[in-house]
Amino acid sequence: MSAPQSTVRYAPAPAPAVLLNPGPVNVHPDVRAALGFPDVCHREPEVAALIDRIRAKVVAVCGGGPEHRGVLLTGSGTAALEATLGSIVPPDGKVLVLENGHYGVRLAEIATALGLPLRRLAFAWASPLDLAAIEATLAADRSITHVAMVHHETSTGMLNPLREIGEICRRHGASLAVDAISSLGSEALDVRLDGVDWCVGTANKCLEGLPGMSFVCAPEPLLRGLAGWPPRGYYLDLSRHFLAQEDLGAPAFTPAVQIAFAFERALDLTLAETVTARTARYARRAEELRAGLADLGFRPLLESGEASGAVTVSHLPDGVTYEHLHDALKAAGFVVYATQARLGATVRIGTMGQLTEADIARFLAALREALPAPARVDRPA
Ligand SMILES: *Cc1c(COP(=O)(O)O)cnc(C)c1O
Repeated sequence: MSAPQSTVRYAPAPAPAVLLNPGPVNVHPDVRAALGFPDVCHREPEVAALIDRIRAKVVAVCGGGPEHRGVLLTGSGTAALEATLGSIVPPDGKVLVLENGHYGVRLAEIATALGLPLRRLAFAWASPLDLAAIEATLAADRSITHVAMVHHETSTGMLNPLREIGEICRRHGASLAVDAISSLGSEALDVRLDGVDWCVGTANKCLEGLPGMSFVCAPEPLLRGLAGWPPRGYYLDLSRHFLAQEDLGAPAFTPAVQIAFAFERALDLTLAETVTARTARYARRAEELRAGLADLGFRPLLESGEASGAVTVSHLPDGVTYEHLHDALKAAGFVVYATQARLGATVRIGTMGQLTEADIARFLAALREALPAPARVDRPA
């Protein structure tokens, strides 16, 4: 019996696009070049050394000290969130999840799927977290051991007040876990000053690496403490990954080695640029974008001052649909992103990654072209 002929057709690669979705981002050529590292066995010393270096650089990006350790995971950011929530809450613990957008809701959904004792504190999307309500909830429910929150709520572009919440957690003896997936690299974040015990990040957003790897940064004593109760999963057992990387000098399972080489290059570029300079670079792109959007009749979802430099969400002008904009802009070489339906007729535009002032100017010109011609004024003949 002969094997059936393959009918798969491989389309030619599309022309490179300017990515204005909130990750994955356009990367530096050196990051892509790092993928060309020769084929390698993940149990060889060169990979062990690579993982050690990445773990140290991740700690540096998070502002950790000598007591902090990075744990590197293969999988997108959500894998690291699931590993963290599933591993840090002891059987007699309880997690309070703060929600003011899609990714806060996702934290609660992960906690629910894992069967964790859970308390949800939900605020309207695109509205600030209410610090007094958080304080009151922790004061009233002494069984809460952990608080989980999103630093930069990528669904709305809102930056949540990490340091204030870190202080509240400290006062109430709760351990703070933070989804910093879309803030690390481009927003001020310092796990020690901000009182973050568990800081979760990913390679392919503001750290400007390629998708496929994520990580957790935490103090070593807390990571060692995870061995004190049975794991809720196998592959995403944070304790297993930590002990393998820390004590055995070997990954627990096969990591995405090539992506890891690219990630190290991206971390080097981040640390060389500095997070402060990257914050300023993204803020400049966001200002250029927002000024152009205002000229074209787009109204921002957030007040200025609430928004990060990495994501802009705008209401669409009357008579313009997201689908039309997306397709017209894609044809012109730009990828924009949808928002969750409950935010209404809006478009989400990221200013993460290797974007230049010229990219934003060309984008705004393409956007102007994509908008319907202004209603013509009928002139008397
Ligand atoms: C992108 C993102 C995630 C994770 O998404 P993945 O697709 O799993 O990488 C989680 N939280 C926030 C805030 C994000 O921006």
